[in-house]
Amino acid sequence: MKTIMPYQTIGIMGGGQLARMMCLAAKAMGYRTAVLDPTPNCPAGQVADVEITAAYDDAEAGKRLAAESDVITYEFENVHYTAIEQLEGIVYLPQGSTVLKLAQHRYSEKRAISEMGIAVADFCLIDSAHTLEKNATYPSVLKTTRGGYDGKGQMVLRTEADLTLARELAASAECVLEKFVNFSKEVSVIAARSTTGEIKIFPVSENIHVNGILHKCIVPARISADVERQAIACAKKIVENLAWVGVMGIEMFVADEKIVINEIAPRPHNSGHYTIDACVTNQFEQHVRAVCGLPLGDTSLFSPVVMVNILGEHMDKHNLSNLSEYIPLLPAGKIHLYGKAQAANGRKMGHINLLGDIKKSLESVDASGIWKNA
Ligand code: AMP
Repeated sequence: MKTIMPYQTIGIMGGGQLARMMCLAAKAMGYRTAVLDPTPNCPAGQVADVEITAAYDDAEAGKRLAAESDVITYEFENVHYTAIEQLEGIVYLPQGSTVLKLAQHRYSEKRAISEMGIAVADFCLIDSAHTLEKNATYPSVLKTTRGGYDGKGQMVLRTEADLTLARELAASAECVLEKFVNFSKEVSVIAARSTTGEIKIFPVSENIHVNGILHKCIVPARISADVERQAIACAKKIVENLAWVGVMGIEMFVADEKIVINEIAPRPHNSGHYTIDACVTNQFEQHVRAVCGLPLGDTSLFSPVVMVNILGEHMDKHNLSNLSEYIPLLPAGKIHLYGKAQAANGRKMGHINLLGDIKKSLESVDASGIWKNA
């Protein structure tokens, strides 16, 4: 364990929006940043001190990043495990590679969580179309064990008629079959654990997805005190048991007033973007503090907040920053755009945090018409 001080350099594998917001937080705290990403002028490359454009598994580029950095972190869990494992041998990587490996495999992840005595949907490993036929129950959700995100690589099996398509998915990749959870709400908790073992938990977020992609977060979540207590207790137990270092997003279902864990993301998470404008410390600063061995910051909420994602379909395709539309419609909204050069449907381009009364924020989001297709 080390303490990384301001003016030293934080290296980040991945240069998307999460890395960009990590860099902005790190910069405000006086750190230098270096990012490695295959796309030139990527969102984080635009704000980092050093941008290395290379494939994640380019070992030479990894060494260059290591040479620039006093500590390394990563911004998303699908970065090549072997690349991180190699870096672990040559540079300080307080997060290690074990939790990354776990989070890259839905079956191992679910098994680890359930072995902690925490509820997950009933699940089984599907390694062939034949295993699927033997184990299919309805309704259930079939998900590839690797590589899925934002609802990709998964399908719901409502009746036997869905087996035809499901067989194709199961034949193409290893999958896990989960019982469908009849949830009343989806929530998430952003938890942080530092190299010193200190843990801090952010307020629970209520999450609304559209087409498998996060659309809105509402904080405080509209849940009972008992469910809130369960959500926080589960999050603490998970980061403690995994001896995690950094920020982790933990997605959960609320079903019959009980928490069921959906999945973990070993990094800052989209459902924690509200913290940028609504909390004393935001999730990116907290991540920097955690991996640098600084004391963790206060996670108190200043104000109720609604976070709304801006996807490609919510942007003017000709003028990517169409701020003239957003600003007058949402006077209490703080706009964050990620500097992506191209908009595409479903692509996360930015988000807006609306501070103040939740009901009013939700009404102004609806009235703006920007998310009318959401
Ligand atoms: P995931 O990729 O696991 O985060 O799933 C994306 C979305 O699919 C979740 O946010 C839920 O809305 C839905 N979902 C995933 N797993 C289940 C499940 N077992 N039961 C019901 N809905 C699910």
